[in-house]
Amino acid sequence: MKIIMLGAPGAGKGTQAKQIAQAYDIPHISTGDIFRANIKEGTELGKKAQEYMDKGLLVPDELVCDLVVDRIHKDDCEKGYILDGFPRTIPQANALDEALAKDGEKIEFAIDIEVPDENIINRMSGRRSCKDCGAIFHVQYNPPKKENCCDVCGGELILRDDDKAETVKKRLDVYHEQTAPLIAHYKEAGSLHEIDGTQDIKVVFEEIKSILG
Ligand code: ADP
Ligand code: ADP
Ligand code: ZN
Repeated sequence: MKIIMLGAPGAGKGTQAKQIAQAYDIPHISTGDIFRANIKEGTELGKKAQEYMDKGLLVPDELVCDLVVDRIHKDDCEKGYILDGFPRTIPQANALDEALAKDGEKIEFAIDIEVPDENIINRMSGRRSCKDCGAIFHVQYNPPKKENCCDVCGGELILRDDDKAETVKKRLDVYHEQTAPLIAHYKEAGSLHEIDGTQDIKVVFEEIKSILG
């Protein structure tokens, strides 16, 4: 089962991708998480990526595409995978399509979670991410049992630097300009499924399960 998640920053891609990965026993591959891990470890890739992430810009395609293509060829991806945050540009989608076509494969499900821009700032300013395991919470919509403490691992919950309102506005512009065109790309490929992401987290997940079967 090869799945990609589409949607604006804060639409709920990560929240849903984690649940799908668990329910279908496939790896959750988040390029944002990969970059944040590299930043934490101080790698060359992390240093380069951070310059763009801090400004709310996309990391250049050439730093992303090979990394993802290598990752999906690992053994744990044999049964499929869920890509969260990739592809984000038409050249990335083309690189993915080409890499899959070499093996006679393609993306089977492109799940687009739709949330209007006016809801996004609220989503992002209330998002809290576990500094240790990456679990995602929301102060209002998905609060942790204990304030600022991760339900999964007990780690500290933080507001991501790029979730501050100014950066979010830039990321939304970048989304509309560079990522939203992917909706037409996957519609044409016949794999697009659109979901109303303003519904409750559980309702969105039920709809995704009914699509995936
Ligand atoms: P969100 O969860 O809000 O959608 P992500 O964690 O997916 O954000 O991504 C955070 C940042 O990492 C992006 O704003 C961008 O700078 C960078 N990034 C992640 N994935 C990609 C990608 N596929 N191409 C380019 N940049 C990316
Ligand atoms: P993305 O990966 O698309 O950037 P996240 O999954 O990180 O989005 O979700 C962004 C924020 O919105 C998080 O704080 C999350 O808890 C919250 N959230 C996710 N889905 C919903 C939903 N359906 N309704 C309300 N809040 C949600
Ligand atoms: Zn945690």
